[in-house]
Amino acid sequence: MAASLIYDSRLSELTTLLALWDEPGYRATQVWQGLYQHFWDSPEQFTNLPVHLRQKLAGEFCFAPLHPVTILTSSDHQTVKTLFNLMDGQAIETVLMHYKERRTICISTQVGCAMGCVFCATGQMGFKRNLSSGEIVAQVLYYARLFREEGAGITNVVVMGMGEPFHNYENTMEAVDRLNDTDGFSLGARRFTVSTVGLIPAILRFTREKRQINLAISLHAADDTLRASMLPINNAYPIDDLLAACHDYVRTTRRRITFEWALVNGINDTPEQAHLLAGKLKGLLCHVNAIPLNPTKGYSGEATTKSHANAFKQILNGYHIPCTIRLRRGIDIQAGCGQLASNEINK
Ligand code: SAH
Ligand code: SF4
Repeated sequence: MAASLIYDSRLSELTTLLALWDEPGYRATQVWQGLYQHFWDSPEQFTNLPVHLRQKLAGEFCFAPLHPVTILTSSDHQTVKTLFNLMDGQAIETVLMHYKERRTICISTQVGCAMGCVFCATGQMGFKRNLSSGEIVAQVLYYARLFREEGAGITNVVVMGMGEPFHNYENTMEAVDRLNDTDGFSLGARRFTVSTVGLIPAILRFTREKRQINLAISLHAADDTLRASMLPINNAYPIDDLLAACHDYVRTTRRRITFEWALVNGINDTPEQAHLLAGKLKGLLCHVNAIPLNPTKGYSGEATTKSHANAFKQILNGYHIPCTIRLRRGIDIQAGCGQLASNEINK
């Protein structure tokens, strides 16, 4: 029988298990702190535990589920992308972005994605499986371990890697809550941003659960015809319904929402789309994060031009809607969502 993944366990579950093994109550806390404060990833490192317990843990659990197979560093050394093999041989990728004092990790929640957005390398792969909460957590711990060697830490986590986090809602939120735990990894909820393609029922649930995590919505188009041609999920959840859910989120949480927009030349970077978008976002506490399209093999669209991107931003700003044009960082290492994994698979 394959060992289960230790990062899939909650502290309460470890506590129950260790009590069953007749261990004193404080042992579970020692294990927890070893995993989430020291980032140990092999039982031998737990030298504060008796040898018999280390051996028992080694027999019961896997401590190292991610095997790095390809590591790419951008020419400016600010972006590092790692392709990991999982225990069943599937592949995911995780990206680290250095920006001033920030060290942000972009994590995956699924192998592939079922949402089929036409411009997205992960969407073009199709859906393979959900990641477990432990596989999501392990991506963050992997980088935390590397940073520890440099005496630094992770400052932010964005759930914008492969997969649709709200299509794997429970495992994603379990992972965030585990990393959030003040007795463990203790990264504040406000340091997390979760991005969704716009699954309305999950957005409503997320709103009700009132976590302090930042929410980003992949909008990409301001009318249903265009959006459905880019994001098929729009057929199930059209723009106005999606924006009603966003209004509800902002009203309930009083938090600003981010809209993501991959600027595709001549498609959604036009003045018409910018004006239409401004009308749709009227009265909503929000910010538009636009990024030139990262071209992918399966999609003929091209990145916007500098002048189109600036004009788009100026129009939104004219309506007092904040908009930033993000740089395509790490373009030389295929840092776009899913691009490295799909290249490995298509080789
Ligand atoms: N599934 C979630 C999160 C992962 S994708 C979502 O769609 O929101 C993270 C962001 O990258 C999304 O806004 C997505 O639309 C965007 N994206 C995907 N492929 C891209 C590409 N080729 N160029 C630019 N942005 C892309
Ligand atoms: Fe999935 Fe997001 Fe890619 Fe769409 S953009 S296919 S939702 S990962």
